[in-house]
Amino acid sequence: MIERRPMIAGNWKMYTDIFESVNLVKAVSAGLRGDEEADVLVAPPFTNLSVVKPFAENARILLGAQNMHWEGSGAFTGEVSGSMLRAAGCTHVILGHSERRHIFGESDADVNRKVEAAAKSGLIPILCIGETLEEREAGRTFEVIAGQLAGSLAAYTAERDLPAETIVAYEPVWAIGTGRTATPAQAQEVHRSIRRWLGERFGEKISEHTRILYGGSVKPDNISALMSEQDIDGALVGGASLKAESFLGIVQFRKKG
Ligand code: PEP
Repeated sequence: MIERRPMIAGNWKMYTDIFESVNLVKAVSAGLRGDEEADVLVAPPFTNLSVVKPFAENARILLGAQNMHWEGSGAFTGEVSGSMLRAAGCTHVILGHSERRHIFGESDADVNRKVEAAAKSGLIPILCIGETLEEREAGRTFEVIAGQLAGSLAAYTAERDLPAETIVAYEPVWAIGTGRTATPAQAQEVHRSIRRWLGERFGEKISEHTRILYGGSVKPDNISALMSEQDIDGALVGGASLKAESFLGIVQFRKKG
């Protein structure tokens, strides 16, 4: 069985100004022991990337952005491109987060263009997918997930290849910021279906190497059980990533059993 190195990623959303971002990354780096069993990533707001970067780099914390535009440059007021994010020190970018999809109306086709542009800029995409409560209750979870994967990775399915190191984050919309977490078994069955889907489109090797993170009200007290599941390779954390103590409690998880 292939060992996938876990990743714990903090999505700071539209929280923290420059000073708060610096304090937060400093507090996280001060609490890292250096023997963590996971890659650690933080995704501050765009305005704070450059100031967070040196502190993150010193502590081997990876830097991600929360979104980007698919064009490299141009008259797109308010947008930021992949090359700008690279220049600001990012290695990763979160794409298709449910807040982007549901509040800002991003479609799978938009996300597909962003994934392609991110990879071309040398960024590793963290592709978010997840069903709403209504879709889950209608028994449509697997269909929705497969549809989002097909739409958001459309540029790659014909070639049967995926941009190197692409990460998928399964984030059930009903579990984001609600305090309601998917049970480890519920998350695992969706993660397994995602891995199966990846295997059918891109082959066993890619599917076995792809890290699939879980996101949705992850906390220090539920991370160990989630991480004990075979296809859960880490977490994308919102609320609990805004306090160093709770984020570190997640980063320093111990597998159950
Ligand atoms: C998220 O925003 O990606 C997320 C999972 O948020 P929370 O951890 O607060 O549910």
